[in-house]
Amino acid sequence: MKEKVKVNEQARLAALYEVSSRLGASLDLAEVLNQVMDAIIQLTGAERGFLMLIEKGSGELQTMAARNMDQKTIDGRSMQISRTVVERAIATKEGILTNNAQEDDRFAGQQSVVGYQLRSIMCAPLRARGEMLGAVYVDNRLFTSVFDNADLSLLVTFANQAAVAIDNARLFTQTDQSLSRRVEELSLFQRIDQELNKSLDLNHILNLALNWAISHTDAGGGSIGLMQTDDETEKRYLRLLVHRGAATEQEERDDEEILVPISHPVLEQVLAGEQSIFTRPVAPEQAIDGTPAVSQLAVPIKRDGMTTGLITLESHLPYAINDEEIAFVERLADRAAVAIKNARLYEEIQFVSKAKSEFISVVTHELRLPMTAIKGYNDLLLGGMTGPLTDQQKQFLQVIRRNVNRMQDLVSDLSDINHIESGRMKFEYEPFDIRETVNEVCDNMKEVIMSKRQSLTIEALSVSADVYADPKRIGQVLTNLVSNAYKYTPEGGQITVRVQERANFAEIAVIDDGIGISEENQAKLFTQFFRAEDQAVREQTGWGLGLSIVKKMVEAQGGEIDFESELNHGSTFIFTIPLANIKEATSIPT
Ligand code: ADP
Repeated sequence: MKEKVKVNEQARLAALYEVSSRLGASLDLAEVLNQVMDAIIQLTGAERGFLMLIEKGSGELQTMAARNMDQKTIDGRSMQISRTVVERAIATKEGILTNNAQEDDRFAGQQSVVGYQLRSIMCAPLRARGEMLGAVYVDNRLFTSVFDNADLSLLVTFANQAAVAIDNARLFTQTDQSLSRRVEELSLFQRIDQELNKSLDLNHILNLALNWAISHTDAGGGSIGLMQTDDETEKRYLRLLVHRGAATEQEERDDEEILVPISHPVLEQVLAGEQSIFTRPVAPEQAIDGTPAVSQLAVPIKRDGMTTGLITLESHLPYAINDEEIAFVERLADRAAVAIKNARLYEEIQFVSKAKSEFISVVTHELRLPMTAIKGYNDLLLGGMTGPLTDQQKQFLQVIRRNVNRMQDLVSDLSDINHIESGRMKFEYEPFDIRETVNEVCDNMKEVIMSKRQSLTIEALSVSADVYADPKRIGQVLTNLVSNAYKYTPEGGQITVRVQERANFAEIAVIDDGIGISEENQAKLFTQFFRAEDQAVREQTGWGLGLSIVKKMVEAQGGEIDFESELNHGSTFIFTIPLANIKEATSIPT
């Protein structure tokens, strides 16, 4: 047992200064409480003591630190008077000193004095920022030592400083906890957003959202559904698309479709207020999917402020879902709403695009036959198979042929775009020497190029440059680019096709010194049906589809396309194709 050492005023202040300066070094609540308790014993020379804090919410006093006594003693009969002293110090917000509680007017009348040992007691409230945090209590047996007013004032002074340190540590712990909860939630939402946005499959999104809602709350089950309108009756209802009736471990009913009328009491309430409803207890008619539950949360999924769907969570416990969890599900519903909107838009686009693709397929097919017939008969006439023709008749037939050719080009371009966009274009991959394709294309184009008195040069590597792609499609790409160079370069111009190797790619450049492309038009290049307004461009036949097809074909085969151009100073179109030795070793695009 520690002897109390009486100290004079100066020594008291020195001791107070010394213990106070130690406070505040830590922000760990348990550590601060222990420091405070040790300091109090040291300062007052008390035999034993404890520190109690008022629990937020319940308002109950809880022992947070004690010296030379345990919880059982504190809760025991012999300490009843001590607890009364603590309660009084908290109620009056003042320090208490009593050397004989039995005879003390403040306590003598109380039952708690019964069975009480005579002790010298001191108690001081802990108060910070005007709020009562709790109290510190110390006592001594009378025959060892009694406290006096100077001891009490020392304890009260120290308790005030200790309360600040305790308050700081508590605040820090709270801020720290809520910050880490917030950080945790943010990173969780980041993951949720990623997952939700990765998918455009509506059912998958609904499943994900419901799974998160259930797993991050204590709900036993739930459902998610979207508002729909019946085409015939025009009645609105909630169609539950996913539900897990696990609240009372009901039978699995996952594939059963549940339609909830808007007259359903909970749905009606959500729709009227456009906000979440927590129901407890849940009457049978309030259960959204018919699963019996004790508590139920219904959170609207809103788009432009209107309820377009509902997440419901159920539990067989009355308090399973707290306010924080409700806020979480609300934020989740906001996120799900965006993903649902995207998925629905995607579904609509898919539908429209499929319809467009089918339409183009039918049209191009239906046009091909009559065009072949027109062209065939036209060629027969032009070839003199039906007798001699006048010059004018020949001229007219040539106009027909040019126009049919133009239509055939359009049909073939549209059909190519349709095939690429719908993923139906077949690429027959094989290793081949790109220089051969360049030579072939240039050979085919030579005649027309020469007719415009343009010169065509090939700058190819001396060694073979084997690429891995579809040679026919690469030929098509090259023909398109060389043909553009020819079309958009005036008479007497220069066209060069250069083959180089760069990293794991063959790089093919088609260079001309033609009309070039203005900066404004460069931004529109590769978009379908774009043609420059230029007189020189409009004089040439074309539909503005070639470059967009070229880009898609190159990219589909693992390459890239780029260009450089300056108005009136020519253009260079460069595309790449993976080299064969690299491509064979890695994945092959299909
Ligand atoms: P088209 O040649 O049928 O018009 P493209 O898609 O091949 O369609 O080209 C689109 C437009 O890009 C052309 O109309 C032209 O304005 C411009 N263009 C393409 N290649 C060149 C080039 N080599 N030089 C100048 N302009 C070009």
